[in-house]
This record gives sequence, C-alpha cells and structure tokens, in this order.
Amino acid sequence: MEIKGKITLKKGKETSIQRRHPWLFSGAIEHIEGNLTDGDWVTVMQAGGKVLGHGHYQKGSITVRLLSFEQELPGPGFYTAKISTAAKQRANINIQSSVTNAYRLIHGEGDGLPGLITDLYNGVAVVQAHSHGMHHDRMIIAAAIKEVFGDNLSAVFYKNQAIPNSKGEYLLGMAAVPHTILEHNHKFLVDWEEGQKTGFFLDQRENRLLLGSYAMNRAVLNTFCYTGGFSVYAAQAGASLVHSVDASERAMEMTRKNLHLNGFDPTQHECFTADTFDFLKGKENLYDLIILDPPAFAKHKDSKHQAMRGYQRLNLEAIQKIRPGGIIFTFSCSQVVDRQLFYDTVVSSAIQSGREIKVLQHIGQPGDHPVSIYHREGEYLKGLVLYVS
Ligand code: SAH
Repeated sequence: MEIKGKITLKKGKETSIQRRHPWLFSGAIEHIEGNLTDGDWVTVMQAGGKVLGHGHYQKGSITVRLLSFEQELPGPGFYTAKISTAAKQRANINIQSSVTNAYRLIHGEGDGLPGLITDLYNGVAVVQAHSHGMHHDRMIIAAAIKEVFGDNLSAVFYKNQAIPNSKGEYLLGMAAVPHTILEHNHKFLVDWEEGQKTGFFLDQRENRLLLGSYAMNRAVLNTFCYTGGFSVYAAQAGASLVHSVDASERAMEMTRKNLHLNGFDPTQHECFTADTFDFLKGKENLYDLIILDPPAFAKHKDSKHQAMRGYQRLNLEAIQKIRPGGIIFTFSCSQVVDRQLFYDTVVSSAIQSGREIKVLQHIGQPGDHPVSIYHREGEYLKGLVLYVS
C-alpha cells in the first residue's frame, strides 16, 4: 500500500488505539503531514513519533479507520492475509455446511477491516464499501477474495454504500440474479443488484432457526419481513398460518417466490404489501407469534430519541394485539441504540400494555458477524424473545 501521509496524535491520546480500537477521532489529532484526500492510506503516530498503525484517512469525525496496528507498512499481500484469516475463522466455527452456503465473510471492524462488508452467497461475493478507503481499494480487495477462494468463487459484485441506492457493478466474473442460496436447508432467492444492502439479511440466520423452534401450530405474523426469511422458517416448522408484511412490493414479490420455492402456497400463507403500523390496526387476538424486525429507526445519535419512540410504539402495538400465551421476537438493528436502551424501551411498552410478560431469551448477531472486544460499537443487532401471558 502506498502511504500518502502521517498523522501525529496529541500527547496521551494513544491509549484507545493501543487497545486496538480502530477509530481515530479528529479531536485526538495534533498534526497532519501530507496533502491528503479521502481514502488515502496514512501512518498514525503517537506524540514523539512512535508508529501506532496504518489506516484509511477520511475527513470527518472519524478521521482514520485503522486497518493495521503494526509498525511495518502494510505490504501487497495485506488484504489477502486479512481475508484469509476471516475465511479460516468462519471455517473454524462451522458457519458453512451442507445445509448453509451463505454467510458473512467480512464484518468490518470485527474482522479488522473497518468500512468493508462482504457477504458470500453460494460462490458469489457481494462487497460493500462504507468508507472512501475501501471504495478506493475495491479492485485489490476483489482480487484478494479471488486469491483466497479460487475456483470456489464465480463472481464479485460491488456496491458503494456511500452512494444511496447505488446500482453496483461486477468487479470479477458475473452471476445471474436472483441467485439461490441455502440457509439451514431453507432455500432463498437473493438479488444483490436490486435488493436492499447486499441482498439478504444473513444476520438473522440463527434467530430464524430459533423462531422455527417456537413456530409449530402457531399463527405467525412476520412484520418488516423483507424477502420472507422468518416466514419460510415458520412455515417449514409447521406454523398454522404465516402472514408476511413489508412496505416494499418488490420485497413481497420475493417473499411469495421464496415461500413457493420451499413448497408452500403463498395464497395460504398470505403476503401483504403494507406499512406495519397500518396493518396492525384492528388485528387483535389473531396471532400467537409476532416478529418485529424494523429497519434501523436511528441511524445517528441525533435521531435516537425519535427512534426510541418508534420502538416503544411498535412493541406496544404487538404486545396489545398478541393472543394470550403468545411469543414476540423483537429486534433493533440500530447501532446507536444499545442493548440496555432497547431493553428499557421494551419494558416501557410492557408497562403501558399492563400485560404479564416474561423474557425468554436475549438474542443477537451470529458468529459470522463478529465484534472485536475492543470495539463495542460493532454490536448492532439486539433481540428479545418475549412470552406474553
Ligand atoms: N426480517 C427481515 C429483514 C428486515 S429489513 C429478514 O429476515 O430478512 C427491514 C424491512 O422493513 C425492509 O424490507 C423494509 O422494506 C421494511 N420496512 C421499512 N419500513 C416499513 C414499514 N413502515 N412497514 C413495513 N415494512 C417496512
């Protein structure tokens, strides 16, 4: 990697980086050397000149995302080594198997690669850059993924997250969409070209499996269903009925196809294109298992308060409507809303409903979405399984 500049920290500001927290905030910087543009590689040094590591520069509150905490400059094999480590880690925890061929290969900071997300869908890698540096390095990254996976990889598709609704492009090979993946033996169609994020929400894999264990003979409502992940598991597990709701017609079309692909009749397990709050009106006592998996209500700290109100209202609606003895799977994927705050919000909904409620389980993101223990911010998916008497 070509290093374009040097950043020196204020005295005493090195501790968090020494502890391998990968974000350098602008307030900790004493001096910037070099005429830097967003995405450049820089060396980060503590006061006095000792090298702390190297990373991507980007003007803003997080000025450097560190990719290396070594003294040595990152060499040409840098990305290959990181990606190979990430792949080995997934293999060590048996993420891929004869029944699952889709998983997250790179989870940003959790894999030492801030700003980079890569999901693997049955031989196709979908890469997302969340920083200028990763956007800049995308070709090297695609080549590195190919080097690690060889013939097991047929294509690399790239989306720049910095551009909203970016269409994306193939950096290597090509693959037809929708593409079929297998998740715990359930089939799903994935469309990374038109779909949201990388095309599928792999982070709910283990929670979908858990949902299956509760779904038998229950009337299930899957709100914010996207392409029907939870719906397919519920139907497969013997739910008496599954209603799926999403505001996006495209997502609902995919849900119908996914139900059909797994042998279920989408007319029996009905699909509704609707706003969840509107849909819930007048739906008292119809369901005994409800899934609430809304999009991140808060994307920034500033919208946290409004987001809490959203979660509060949504959970209250579901608690009020569910049948006695019902189960609620409730989630928040807002990174700025931590586990405690989410829990407290659900408690507030519970109090307002006046119903008797037990927490059966605390759930979260799976092992292919790891969180560096030095970077708590990496934990974003929080969930609760509730029993409503
Ligand atoms: N549970 C899904 C992922 C949910 S992503 C899965 O397992 O794959 C959030 C979804 O909420 C998106 O598909 C988005 O289209 C939908 N959405 C956003 N606002 C909504 C609203 N007000 N009502 C219904 N769906 C909404």
